[in-house]
Amino acid sequence: MSRFLAEKYQSLVAYTPGEQPTDMKYIKLNTNESPFPPSEGVIRAISKERVEELRLYSDPTCGVLREKIAKQFGVEKANVFVSNGSDDILNFSFMAFCDGSHTGVAFPEISYGFYSVYADLHRVDAKKIPLTKDFRVDYTDYLNVGRTVVIANPNAPTGIALSVREIEEIVKSNPDHVVLIDEAYVDFGAESALRLTEKYENLLVVRTFSKSYSLAGARLGFAIGHTSLIADLEKIKYSTNPYNINRLSLLAGAAAMDESDYYMENCKKIQENRAYTTDALRKLGFSVLPSSANFIFAKSDAIGGEELYLELKKRGILVRHFSTELIRDYNRITVGTIKEMQTLVETVRTILAEKTSD
Ligand SMILES: *Cc1c(COP(=O)(O)O)cnc(C)c1O
Repeated sequence: MSRFLAEKYQSLVAYTPGEQPTDMKYIKLNTNESPFPPSEGVIRAISKERVEELRLYSDPTCGVLREKIAKQFGVEKANVFVSNGSDDILNFSFMAFCDGSHTGVAFPEISYGFYSVYADLHRVDAKKIPLTKDFRVDYTDYLNVGRTVVIANPNAPTGIALSVREIEEIVKSNPDHVVLIDEAYVDFGAESALRLTEKYENLLVVRTFSKSYSLAGARLGFAIGHTSLIADLEKIKYSTNPYNINRLSLLAGAAAMDESDYYMENCKKIQENRAYTTDALRKLGFSVLPSSANFIFAKSDAIGGEELYLELKKRGILVRHFSTELIRDYNRITVGTIKEMQTLVETVRTILAEKTSD
């Protein structure tokens, strides 16, 4: 830290992203990326001509992409906000909807780590609501909570989802606060709250191209909600960085929207591979939470969470371990191809066998 850093940021603890190591080739099951490549149309969209156009600024209104998203989800363009990754939209939402006059924000104690970083960054009072003993979000904890609500659905890193009916109760009971539902993983088997945005002006649904659309490196996220919420987010974007999505990512996102069938097929494969992995790990004695996402959260009484993470890494498989007290026994394992998952299961079997033989 230099002596020039603004005082208000001196105690800020930044988010720690999952490792992206380059020392060797890993089976990468640590940051919930897709194991499948972007669709053909995305690859065709990034032509030489388009690369040459990088000398020009990108379209700040993101017109083409927003139009495609609107059409795909049956809403109007004015209901769609796009930005440089959904992290960007979460950041803007904390800026826009969580200040003192909203009496702060509420989110689950165990959830996406960025929520508490954004709360600290913007000095928002955060009420962190514990999960139930079986790691569920209890929706009744959020009824009439009198704060902005942020919930990942399915939740991360547990993978457990709320029903739309439960989300509607939360939205209905907090009419004077924004309820933000982060649907980063919804395509892998949970119910979307999207339709409710037509009925409730305080609901914002946030999505990303990073997980189900194989575009984590393009940095693209979008939000759907009432036109006035979208206008608020636009105001923040135009007050910070109007050209915050680059030309190539805009093209990639638009092409991906045209090929949704391909991506939804991939999501089905991930669900099959998730069922295989859950079953195989349970047979090896693991307890595995019921996941509706592209990852599973698992622990074993035979080996500690950190030890398993390190043993897997030694053998070329990366998973995500969190040292937070409540979840340190667990690892979050991204669901990859069936071959990757078979290798994972066999490697875990070997590690456990070696442990019991010494
Ligand atoms: C991955 C993830 C994001 C971030 O997505 P980007 O669009 O890549 O910024 C947001 N929320 C949750 C819960 C995630 O897991």
